[in-house]
Amino acid sequence: MPVVNSIGSSTSKIHEETQKKIRSSGWVALVGAGPGDPGLLTLRGKQLLDQADVIVHDQLLHPELLSYRTNAQYVFVGKSAGHTTLPQPQIEQVLIDLAKSGKGVVRLKGGDPFTFGRGGEECQALAAAGVRFEVVPGVTAAAGAAAYAGIPLTHRDTNSAVLFFTGHAREGVADEETGLAPPLDWSALAKLPALVMYMGVKSLAEVLSKLLAAGLPAETPAAAVQWATWDKQRTVTATAESLAAAVASAGINAPAILFFGKQVLLRDQLDWAGKRPLAGKTVLVTRTGPASSDLRQDLRNFGARVVEAPMLHTLPNPDLATLAPLLLRLNAMDCIVLASWRGVESLKDQLQAAGLDVRALGRAKLAAVGRHTADACWQMLGVRPEIVPQDGGEGSRALLNELQTVGMVTGKRLALIRADVGLAGVAEKLLAGGAAEVIELPVYLSTPASEIPPHAIALLRAGEVDWITFTSGLTARRLIELLGPEKTLLTGIKRVSIGPMTSQTLAELGFPATVQAATSHMGDVADAIVSYQP
Ligand code: SAH
Repeated sequence: MPVVNSIGSSTSKIHEETQKKIRSSGWVALVGAGPGDPGLLTLRGKQLLDQADVIVHDQLLHPELLSYRTNAQYVFVGKSAGHTTLPQPQIEQVLIDLAKSGKGVVRLKGGDPFTFGRGGEECQALAAAGVRFEVVPGVTAAAGAAAYAGIPLTHRDTNSAVLFFTGHAREGVADEETGLAPPLDWSALAKLPALVMYMGVKSLAEVLSKLLAAGLPAETPAAAVQWATWDKQRTVTATAESLAAAVASAGINAPAILFFGKQVLLRDQLDWAGKRPLAGKTVLVTRTGPASSDLRQDLRNFGARVVEAPMLHTLPNPDLATLAPLLLRLNAMDCIVLASWRGVESLKDQLQAAGLDVRALGRAKLAAVGRHTADACWQMLGVRPEIVPQDGGEGSRALLNELQTVGMVTGKRLALIRADVGLAGVAEKLLAGGAAEVIELPVYLSTPASEIPPHAIALLRAGEVDWITFTSGLTARRLIELLGPEKTLLTGIKRVSIGPMTSQTLAELGFPATVQAATSHMGDVADAIVSYQP
């Protein structure tokens, strides 16, 4: 019937319009980033970061979170040196305007958005403007500091209540940062068994005198935790009476959080973070990539602060004229050796550039050096390598042995996928071992870094680096070249080498290794540092 038809079509039209509106309308998610350590972001927070078009953030966020999305826009609305923060109404307007222009916005906030974070105000503004919003809780500074300093927020032996308050809100005075906060009842606070004070370093002496005057026992155990959960976390402990002096003499300033109560004493037993073997140590890592990300992770698990100064960069080999004919020969090979994950990535790119795809690999068996290279074969090419020799870290003994063992040398044709430098001497050894043919494909070029990153050189000059890791002779040479006359800075720093070849280069350069990894594997470098005994 015509009537039904007309209703049906208009209903579906409305449906379509609504769908369109939903798809094109923007949103804002207030996401708690946690107090520092990027590992403390929630999974939901990560999902939303992955979906965002724009990330609006303030200061005090870990650089890893601020460089996490390479194809989203980051907008900074916090305090920059010497300037005050963008006024709150303007921040709210930025969020509203972005959402109304159809963007997905993550408002990334330190700690938890609804704990002294003005998240409530931002949501009120979004609600009033009719913008769709969501709030993702984060680890608040109190919880982060409690965990990483070994001070439980509650404990059955010490306290069954805890109160969070801010030392920043000046009573009855409209404040640019916090607005007009309701006054605190100091004598009520002084009666509680446990207190946690946010934003309190500047006003510490003033707040303490009020609390003590209101009856807080002078001998109440107290602690200040600065940069909680960061690798530069510092803690001082004292009593309520002596905390202000202790904080001043340790030079502790914002961001710091203060604890009062008997549970502070448990720290002696519970300070797991401070008792990690490399806590308080700074390690400079001279390489990037997934294999060294394991090294970074190992070092962080041991509690070290890790600073990166990659000494080699890679770029695709632009010489397709030479590479293309070699790529076309791959399907005639018995075995294709992939020396690194970067080699796999570059092989894929070069195949694409030559108008080929993974079928160019033919029926050749694949040998991938190390777990990361094997993973890359599956993830980037959709193929599983049959042969996975251990990553030698340096040298190619494991690779050659494995190829021999599986009968992939004598009479075989092999292709080596590598950088312009790398797998030195492998082709010759394979031929000497009876290989019928070896072709080499330098799919990417490895170029020496042109500078030491500014933050790394600053730490070196300040004498704040305890260890440097050298995972190849090339990185050692380059670092020393770039330091020039400042290479003497290295004398005071302990040096760990991945294996005998790197150690030899270091010795030739006049900076012999302090320790050498046990088996030339990346996985042993952090252990070598930890087991070092002067
Ligand atoms: N929304 C945040 C708090 C913002 S107010 C949260 O939930 O944690 C800022 C205050 O939080 C700082 O002045 C400090 O007292 C505390 N803070 C934030 N990060 C901290 C950190 N990493 N270590 C110690 N205190 C921190």
